This record gives sequence, structure tokens and C-alpha cells, in this order.
Amino acid sequence: MRLQIIGDPVLHSKSPVIQGAMLAALGLDVEYTPHVVRRGELPQYLTWARENGITGFNATMPHKEDLIPLLDETDPAARAMGAVNTVCLRDGKWVGFNTDGAGAVAALKDGLGLDPAGLTVTLLGAGGAAKAAAPALSQAGAERVFVCNRTLGRAEALCAQDPLGRLSPAGFDPGTLRRMAERSQLLVNCTNLGMAGCPHQFEDFSFLDALPDGAAVFDVIYHPARTQLLAQAEGRGLRTLNGLPMLVSQAVLALEHFLNRPLDRKAMAAVAAGALGEAAL
Ligand code: NAP
Repeated sequence: MRLQIIGDPVLHSKSPVIQGAMLAALGLDVEYTPHVVRRGELPQYLTWARENGITGFNATMPHKEDLIPLLDETDPAARAMGAVNTVCLRDGKWVGFNTDGAGAVAALKDGLGLDPAGLTVTLLGAGGAAKAAAPALSQAGAERVFVCNRTLGRAEALCAQDPLGRLSPAGFDPGTLRRMAERSQLLVNCTNLGMAGCPHQFEDFSFLDALPDGAAVFDVIYHPARTQLLAQAEGRGLRTLNGLPMLVSQAVLALEHFLNRPLDRKAMAAVAAGALGEAAL
């Protein structure tokens, strides 16, 4: 068995550290390596991978969406999200999965003890992370998810894909964010704002003041571990969660797909989190 993560760029990815630690903890002598695949080179990669004993791979940008038409099968969650992050060779067929959304929901449960069922959520962004998290929150029973994005058309397109009709598009201006936040028990940031290397930051955090007491703020960004958004939320007495538990949970779920068997998720998450701590993000 040989596993990889493909993308461009990919050499900065933490997945080899996380997966390597979990594979070692399971006593499996399996290689998991990063592999640069440029946009447009996926067909050649799939042929090469099959010929070189690759039995599974994770995909990061820019391939998550482009892979779908090239695979033999995709599971319903990946189809609903229009993106895959995990691909396995099963009986000679490439089968795609998406563990990002389930990873986000698991992180909320494990990290905050928060079950999205029945909640109203304000979700910021409509890019890759939002496309995974928003439908997963809908499937997990969130009553309403307001998808607030700078480019409204992207939020509208994302919400139109939700078969449960629980996603509503909204704008990203301060007034709209405050109005949505007033009604929400959970706010999830899926934009790049606050990410290391992103030149932009939230211009105003007043939407945090509109959240009701006891609300939680989940920033899917994990680098830095404490974004300005989380610091501002903590300062207002709100419960907070960063993106590390989601990163870890999606990796554990991906490994279950690669090995095609259930794992002790808590134990694996602890191994992965420990390895990340040692690698010092
Ligand atoms: P993406 O596809 O490029 O989407 C970026 C989103 O940010 C878009 O909605 C974009 O809005 C918005 N945005 C960017 N600059 C903005 C600005 N100046 N003002 C307002 N909105 C702005 O990126 P992604 O793949 O979703 O990743 C987003 C973040 O999630 C990254 O920090 C990534 O590291 C993190 N992430 C974490 C995990 C995890 O496991 N924890 C998994 C995936 C991603 P427009 O549509 O208007 O451009």
C-alpha cells in the first residue's frame, strides 16, 4: 500500500505528518508522501498512480473539484459538495470521498460538545471550506445556515445545491453580518481572512457583538492557531474553536477510507494532534 497527497502547492501540507503518525501508531509500514500535480495533469496522475501501486490519495487545491468527473464513483457527500479530498482504489476503481464536512461537524462535537442539530448558523465564505462545511451542517440537522459571502453569486450557487433547503445566501457587509449573527448560536469562518499569509483581515468585528450569549465561534483556519477573530470572540466571552480539530478529524476519516475499516477515532485524533504539536505549525 502506498498513499499520497496531491496538489499544487502541496509540500507545505501537514497531512504527511498527521497520516504518517497515525500509520506508525497502527504499526503499518505504509508510505504517505506529498506529490506535486499541476492543474490539468490529473488524468496523467491517475494513470501513473495505478501503475505505481498508489492505493489512495488525498487531494488539495486545485484538484478537489476537477477530480470528480475523472473518478469511477463518488460517495453522496462528495457529490453534494461537488468536491473530493480522499480517493481510494477499490476493486480497480477510483472511488472519491469528502471528509472535510464530516470533519468539521466532528470537530464541533469533540471540541465544543456542540451538536449542530436545530441550530441557526452564520457561515462566512463560499469557497472550498464553505462548500464542505455548509452542506455537512445542513445534513447534521442545522435548522438554517446563512452563507454570507463577499461574492453573493457564489453563496447563491452553493445554497442552490442543498437538497434539504436549509442554506440561505446572504451578503458580507457589516449590517448583513450583524443581522444574521443576531439569530445564530454558531458562527463559522470559512474565509481566508486572518489566515497566515492572507493580506486581508476582518475590517470590523461588530458582528460578534450581535451573537447571543453562549454562542460559539468556529474558525476553520489553523495557521495561526489563534486568529484575530478567535481572540476577539474570546474577549467577548464567546466559546471558540480553531481549525486544528477539523484538520485532524478529516484526516482520521480519510484514513478509515484508505484502510477500509473503522478506527478508534479518539485515539487516532490524539496521535494526529500530538504529531502536529511536535511539528509546531
Ligand atoms: P477559497 O476556496 O479560496 O475561498 C476563500 C473564501 O474567502 C471565499 O469565500 C472568498 O470570498 C473569501 N474571501 C477571501 N478574501 C476575502 C476578503 N478580503 N473579504 C471577504 N471575503 C474574502 O479558500 P478555502 O479553500 O475555502 O479555504 C479557506 C480557509 O479555510 C483557509 O484558511 C484554509 O486554510 C482553511 N481550511 C481549513 C481546513 C481545516 O481542515 N481546518 C480545511 C479547508 C480549508 P469570494 O468568493 O468573494 O472570493
